[in-house]
Amino acid sequence: MAAQIMSKLWRFYLAHFSKTYVLNQLSRRAGECRQCGTCCVLGVPCPLLTRDKLCAVYGKCRPQVCRVFPIDQRDIDEVAAHGCRCGYYFPDEETREPRTWAPVSRPGGWAEGHSEETGL
Ligand code: SF4
Ligand code: SF4
Repeated sequence: MAAQIMSKLWRFYLAHFSKTYVLNQLSRRAGECRQCGTCCVLGVPCPLLTRDKLCAVYGKCRPQVCRVFPIDQRDIDEVAAHGCRCGYYFPDEETREPRTWAPVSRPGGWAEGHSEETGL
């Protein structure tokens, strides 16, 4: 829990104060969001996550740090440690089996996908 909160703070720092690094990471990243919502519950569950596990501010004022998740392989590893698999991956760090899952169907806010503009 404490480690996940530290990771969350670190991502916040990167998203706001290390934009060049984040843009470089995003250019290396492949895959797509499965709209699983796992990144919304790492550490402390986000209060903006609805009971249906939808983002209440998606497409309106979703925080920048949410738009750029995952920034690093360790973010993806955190999702895995939470029992899920992020749809994104870093090809040069990829050691897993090829991904064969289908996108999670999410009516409502997440249906737009998690590919909103990063805001960077
Ligand atoms: S995407 Fe929305 S629900 Fe998820 S952490 Fe960000 S603000 Fe919260
Ligand atoms: S696939 Fe990854 S980025 Fe998309 S909601 Fe799930 S954990 Fe977050």
